[in-house]
Amino acid sequence: MTDPVLSTHALVARYGDFQALYGVDFQIAEAEAVALIGANGAGKSTFLRAIMGLLPVAPDMVRLAGQPIGGTPTDRMVQKGIAIVPEGRRLFTGMSVEDNLRVAVDQAERLGRKGGWSLARLQQLFPILRDKARTPVQSLSGGQQQMVSIGRALLCQPRVLLCDEISLGLAPKVIREIYAALPEIRAQGTSVVLVEQDVGLAQSASDRLYCMLEGRVTLTGASGAVTREDIGRAYFGGS
Ligand code: ATP
Repeated sequence: MTDPVLSTHALVARYGDFQALYGVDFQIAEAEAVALIGANGAGKSTFLRAIMGLLPVAPDMVRLAGQPIGGTPTDRMVQKGIAIVPEGRRLFTGMSVEDNLRVAVDQAERLGRKGGWSLARLQQLFPILRDKARTPVQSLSGGQQQMVSIGRALLCQPRVLLCDEISLGLAPKVIREIYAALPEIRAQGTSVVLVEQDVGLAQSASDRLYCMLEGRVTLTGASGAVTREDIGRAYFGGS
């Protein structure tokens, strides 16, 4: 593989006395899609939080294009080109779709991030963002809100997009619509990390996958090459 754009090296993370990650080695190349699977509590969200600087980690444990960035405050992570679509979406309720997106435009401007994503281009990617531009986000369906959340992250012009369970609770048709946007996002050169509960979806949407169990990586490989049996063992443990 080419030089990774983002990598982690023996990444450990704790919540107080509880250790949630035990030395995670991970890498993703430019424009690559990598899925991260594992049962509830395996540490997937913690892994994303640790990358984003939301948990204390040593600088060398997270590198962006080889540069140590671990533990950098989250705002500066966005400035460096890492954006997250958080679990639960966390939109500004009471604000319209467009106003939610404009917050991200302003944030990117303030942080000096430039790139190919504009409001108009996003509205092409997800037409609902144009059709419902003036609608308060809380009136949207879960899938539509997810599109706003992804749009908001893309407007930060990320080199790496971290997606935390973007399919959770959504209807299959909407999930397909959201995942259909991935090729265009990657065509921009953006790398995409997909934390995904649906193993089949994770496999079909990614180039490579990692499976985690109890804070450790138990399997990594090309998504098209790992078998159901490999995944079953890595997911639940045992030999
Ligand atoms: P899920 O699919 O349920 O989100 P996950 O793989 O993302 O699972 P994490 O949320 O990263 O798992 O949780 C990993 C471990 O860390 C779990 O044992 C969880 O109970 C613990 N944990 C997560 N957040 C906290 C917290 N704020 N304080 C203490 N422990 C936490």
